Amino acid sequence: MTAPDLAVRGERILIDGELVQATILVHAGRISAIEANCDPTTSAGAARMIDAGRDVVSPGFVDLHVHFDNPAINLADDFHVGTANSALGGCTFVIEHPFSTPPTTTAERYAAKRERAATGAVVDFGLWGALTEPSLRELDGQRALGAAGFKAFLPDNNMDFPPATDDELREGLANTAREGGFVLVHAEDRDRLRAAIGHERAAGRIDCAAVLAARAPEIEIEAVRRVLELAEETGGAVHLVHLSVPESVDLVTASRERGVKASCEATTHHLLLDSDDFLRLGWSALCAPPLRPRSDVEALWRRLRDGVIDAVVSDHCPYSLSDKAPAATNALDGPFGIQSAREFALLFLDEALRRGWTLPEALALVTSRPADLCAAAPRKGRIAVGADADFAVLRTGAEHPVNAEEQFGPDRWSPYDGRPSTLQLISTIMRGKPVVLDGRLVGSAGSGQFIPLSAGAPAAVTDGGIR
Ligand SMILES: [Zn+2]
Repeated sequence: MTAPDLAVRGERILIDGELVQATILVHAGRISAIEANCDPTTSAGAARMIDAGRDVVSPGFVDLHVHFDNPAINLADDFHVGTANSALGGCTFVIEHPFSTPPTTTAERYAAKRERAATGAVVDFGLWGALTEPSLRELDGQRALGAAGFKAFLPDNNMDFPPATDDELREGLANTAREGGFVLVHAEDRDRLRAAIGHERAAGRIDCAAVLAARAPEIEIEAVRRVLELAEETGGAVHLVHLSVPESVDLVTASRERGVKASCEATTHHLLLDSDDFLRLGWSALCAPPLRPRSDVEALWRRLRDGVIDAVVSDHCPYSLSDKAPAATNALDGPFGIQSAREFALLFLDEALRRGWTLPEALALVTSRPADLCAAAPRKGRIAVGADADFAVLRTGAEHPVNAEEQFGPDRWSPYDGRPSTLQLISTIMRGKPVVLDGRLVGSAGSGQFIPLSAGAPAAVTDGGIR
């Protein structure tokens, strides 16, 4: 074999769910061999050598849920700014949702967005397709271009993205039953929510407390129940995004037990912050569904521990500071969303460690499990022979509080600003090349590639295979 382009050695490399000593050899961006030693002769001749020592070498993180690139609502991040922050947070693969202007509701628009995004992306990316008018006729076309999932948004919204009706959901789910893939659903019941918001507004309440009152848990739970019924009826597959209350997760569990193809995710903010934090922080912690009482947060952690929740995501929603400003006086009308592409994985891992999880247990929720779910495995999400050479190198036991000023881009803010963290991202390596080195961004616009997601069975890979 020719000399490797890169060798990574370390004492704590995450392989097959364990932190082990190993040396990883990389040829042409892929892992070509894994040796169970740190013997320098193993990596002799490698063009580049990274010695992680006691730092943890994880697969690059996978973020299933980001929003970039929406000029209509002035999202501050284009693909360059957004994926630069993802890279600084250890991600090597992100999937973006279809709220562009115009929204990504046709195969043609999907293809155009793919081209546009590739010129800016610092890390590899996928794109979810859309399930809303006129995209029902376009699902197969979007799928052929690389969309394994199609986003449906149930409540009214401030984007050019019509809420999906029950009939559209039914048709979309039936399509996934025939052709593969799944429907991703933002589950808040449109009619109940519209009425509840009207009620608050009529009473002159538009502050953070009004948001909590209007977007009550039942609004989410009822929508989740309805979507799962439609999945069961059609045999289609559904992925519930950003579930915020334990009852929603329990509905997913119960329907899975009946054979329904259902998965779900939780955001870092619903796992770290609660409704008291929201009342204290205001606009920077305004999101939909909103932050929940501490008892719900704790119950969500128990569901996470039980393995029912498939992934932890950022739901990165980067409004400019000027766009967020009105929420300081009128939270009821948004804009809803928290930017955390850079912070979400490290803060989730830090909190999991504080709760007594092992690092491999926590890492699975931002690496292998999301990669399996979106069919980016076997390329992404694991350190295994044949996989992309994607790594996040982490220092544990550090004192590295969140500092929003370390974000990339013009609008740097975070509801986590000042929060202590024991984890520090040292380097992010993607397909064998550094995009972050010693905490500094070295990747540039265009270093990321579009990765089409197969809606069918993932291709075979030579697994694990420490020699
Ligand atoms: Zn979202």
